[in-house]
Amino acid sequence: MKRSTRGCGCVLAVLVVLAGAGTFAVFKWGLPWWRARAPKPAGELKIAVLDVGPIEGDSILIIAPGGKTALIDAGDAGKGKVVLDALKRNKVEKLDYFIATHPHPDHIGGADEVLNGIKVGTVIDNGVDKSTPAPSPGPTKKGAKPSPTPPPRRTRAKTITGFFDEYKDALQKSGAQYQKAQVGQKIDLGGGAILTVLAPSEPFFTADQLKAGGNEPNANSIVLRLDYGDFSIVFMGDAEAQTEQRLLSKPDLELKATVIKVAHHGSKYATTHAFLERVKPEAAIISTGGWNRYGHPAQETLDRLKNANMKLFRTDLQGEITITTKGRADSGKFYEIKPGKETTEDIWAGREGFKDDSSRSGFIAYGDFGPPPKPKQSTTKAQRH
Ligand SMILES: [Zn+2]
Repeated sequence: MKRSTRGCGCVLAVLVVLAGAGTFAVFKWGLPWWRARAPKPAGELKIAVLDVGPIEGDSILIIAPGGKTALIDAGDAGKGKVVLDALKRNKVEKLDYFIATHPHPDHIGGADEVLNGIKVGTVIDNGVDKSTPAPSPGPTKKGAKPSPTPPPRRTRAKTITGFFDEYKDALQKSGAQYQKAQVGQKIDLGGGAILTVLAPSEPFFTADQLKAGGNEPNANSIVLRLDYGDFSIVFMGDAEAQTEQRLLSKPDLELKATVIKVAHHGSKYATTHAFLERVKPEAAIISTGGWNRYGHPAQETLDRLKNANMKLFRTDLQGEITITTKGRADSGKFYEIKPGKETTEDIWAGREGFKDDSSRSGFIAYGDFGPPPKPKQSTTKAQRH
């Protein structure tokens, strides 16, 4: 009798301990998971890869189901109007986020016009400051007074880093909050749409590490993924193969995505076979212009996309590319990608380069504002080496 009572006590004690541990586990892990999980998709997510040609550039508008908005890049200088027109057309009255992937003019050249033209909540960039250095005072004659007034700011726009000065000035005047992108950072766009920062991770790539091909500001681009229910897209900025390699070296990082916004306008130095194997996208979108000097998109890159059985869309041939999705793979139309116009050109034909798009000789690191000479015949000659 005594023995059985003691047995009962032991069982009870074990049950109390188990219940305690269970309650602890629910509070410690269960509740945070419950709170952090994305809500079920409801409504439509829209992504518009804007046509900011004819040279090249990136500008991508995201409208989340709840109405929050994000703009990734703003095209080249002078392209702000195209972006602002697209915002108007989509009835966007405020940008909750503007994300500048990296300080090159074909990505933030139009940012000042956008920041001056619409209210922006938060601006996120990779923290690399390309401001024009303040001019050092010239040698003064003995006894001569240094000039009390600095040279007018306006003249800085003519420097090679002038586009960055204009971006920074506009950012300061806009009253937007500023954040430096952090890997792993989640940007909640509401309604279940979440942007995650995948790159750049520190330490940033140096120019020396890119000597074999590629370009350092590009390699440190902000790379993002957007998840909405079963749908996902990776926005590669102007990432280089080295950036992709760094992402691949993280085995637990979720890279699989439904769609890829191809890196660096289709450069041959990115979108490696190994990277495509891990992302396994069904469709690829290239933002480029028909009048670029760098051979974007490169035939090699197009061949890699074709071999991976991807559907391809190009802003240089098809104008603005629009993706809509309700985030549910089981619905009749999981997602739809619509080109702005039909093309009779061969979508799988690359462009011929006049300059190498890497940090090797011939590359102009901060963008080349001058348009290339007009091609005599077709602009989509296949590029073969
Ligand atoms: Zn670019």
